[in-house]
Amino acid sequence: MAKDERYDFVIVGGGPNGVTLAAYLGKCGASVCVLEERPEAGGACENTEPMAGVHINPHAMFLYGGAAPGFDQLELWKYGFRAMDENQMGDIMADVDRGVPTTQGMSKLTEKDQMGYAKLSGLLAQPPFTRELLRATFWCPPHPPEVEVTIDNIPYMQVYKQYQPDVWTEELLDMDLFDLMDEHLESEPWKVQQAIIAWYSGAAGHWRGVAIPAWCCNIALVIYTRMHVPRGGMHDYFHAVMRCAIAHGAVIRTCCPVDEIIINDGTAVGVRLRDTATCAGKKIWATKAVISGVDVRQTFNKLVGPQHVDRGLLQKVNDISLKGGSIYVSHLLTREPLRPKAKFPKFIGGAYPMDSREMYYDHVADVDGKRGNPTVPAERAMWLSTPSERFAITDPQVTRGEGHLMSPVYHLVPPPEYHVDGPDAINRWKDGMNQYVVDSMSEVYENLNSDNIIARWANSPYDSEFRNTGMIGGTWCGTRHCNDQWAENRPIPELARYRTPIDGLYLCNQTACHPGGLFLMAIPYNLMHIMIEDGLVEPGDWWYASPWYIPQQGKKSARRP
Ligand SMILES: Cc1cc2nc3c(=O)[nH]c(=O)nc-3n(C[C@H](O)[C@H](O)[C@H](O)COP(=O)(O)OP(=O)(O)OC[C@H]3O[C@@H](n4cnc5c(N)ncnc54)[C@H](O)[C@@H]3O)c2cc1C
Repeated sequence: MAKDERYDFVIVGGGPNGVTLAAYLGKCGASVCVLEERPEAGGACENTEPMAGVHINPHAMFLYGGAAPGFDQLELWKYGFRAMDENQMGDIMADVDRGVPTTQGMSKLTEKDQMGYAKLSGLLAQPPFTRELLRATFWCPPHPPEVEVTIDNIPYMQVYKQYQPDVWTEELLDMDLFDLMDEHLESEPWKVQQAIIAWYSGAAGHWRGVAIPAWCCNIALVIYTRMHVPRGGMHDYFHAVMRCAIAHGAVIRTCCPVDEIIINDGTAVGVRLRDTATCAGKKIWATKAVISGVDVRQTFNKLVGPQHVDRGLLQKVNDISLKGGSIYVSHLLTREPLRPKAKFPKFIGGAYPMDSREMYYDHVADVDGKRGNPTVPAERAMWLSTPSERFAITDPQVTRGEGHLMSPVYHLVPPPEYHVDGPDAINRWKDGMNQYVVDSMSEVYENLNSDNIIARWANSPYDSEFRNTGMIGGTWCGTRHCNDQWAENRPIPELARYRTPIDGLYLCNQTACHPGGLFLMAIPYNLMHIMIEDGLVEPGDWWYASPWYIPQQGKKSARRP
């Protein structure tokens, strides 16, 4: 590396958001350098091989981001992204056929369940508007501060008004997901299934005011991409983004932790690498902007330093709520595939048990209220599983022949920062937690016993933060996606449009920005609007802004003339 390097943009953190932004900026003709702490870029879209021939995804697994404009704007197919594998996990019709698993067996869906689901998801309109609804909810930057947010300009409200006016009502904005579902669906297990998937996916089923974002979290996974896994997994998706960034000239350096974002007279002008970096202590200068692809608390407290941040603002950042729950991730390698008991015909993974919202609220009480290790009895514990069959036979997670992988399996637990017995409490009880996982899954599977288990691995939220220091809360929704931390309020109103009070410093990370994790390329796409407004880049004809975007007064519009 030359002694003094200079780029238009320096991005701290080589996770999916930082690298996607590098691809966008590179495609605009800018020079970009991404600095990643770990030996490999990819952040929480990683893939590991804990045993020869066995691939696990400790973090990202499913493609929620199918509606992203980035797939065509960045032409990811040119860089090796292959669409989702067809597999036996299905769409809404498969759910209808299968039913929803409860402690009593599979519960059937009613006609009202099916029609209500289809209507809310945009499938009944001609043509369907599911993509517009998802893009309006996630792939649109929050409105500028001078704009009063009303029912008439909230993007998803505009979509319903235009395409499915009988769903549109002012009350949508006060509802939680259960309120919404009580109006449109019928059977309790079907509603509980939507609520738990929403909770796992960001905006939870029990938060008032985010009923539609919660619904959209669900359909982004279940119908838009039909619970698909990209070919090669999320890490291969990431590789396509990275190849794209490199093809557009971005420099991506690994083993390069940033220790400091250099601020001169209130402006971010570059970064200094940590002493342990491959080019220790080196400074890399940014002529246009520094972008932080790591969590905002870490950005302000450690990288920028409290001396450069208003104390009130810093306090607000440190107070951002993590009460969104976190995830204990298990991976089980077995000799025989796990066999569901007779009362669960056709159960091929997914969420269990979906009996009632009371059961759901028992978990909310554990995770958000008691904030300790689970107290819900294992036979009522809710979990979400992914069997090997999720992958096509030509693209399996296990190539060892004899093994079958159930991975990942998710159990909701408190984020490490909020655990009443300390951040490492679940780690100290890992054997107990692992047994709890097996006991809860044994309610469904009849052969989950020590003879069948070849090996098992688990990453607690604490482990996840240790592996990936860019996030807080131990998962993608480390900062909760409730109404007061959503859109114009995410992570706090002062930072909602990815700008910071420090000139030339922008935010681009799952826990710091709208709409959070899962919705691939949403943060970089939304941030591009702001960078165009600030005159930092001028994209070519390939660029299109969100149709629901409102330009900030006095700035250049990100819409093409
Ligand atoms: C358990 C779990 C399950 C998930 N499941 C899914 C899923 O099924 N589908 C899905 O789409 N998404 C999923 N996600 C979310 C997805 O992984 C994230 O949305 C995505 O990784 C966010 O990318 P990011 O770039 O914002 O942050 P990160 O991926 O956190 O990347 C930040 C990067 O910054 C680096 N870094 C940190 N500090 C420094 C420093 N000082 N200097 C240099 N580099 C630094 C880190 O090493 C990291 O590589 C999951 C996440 C978790 C944790």
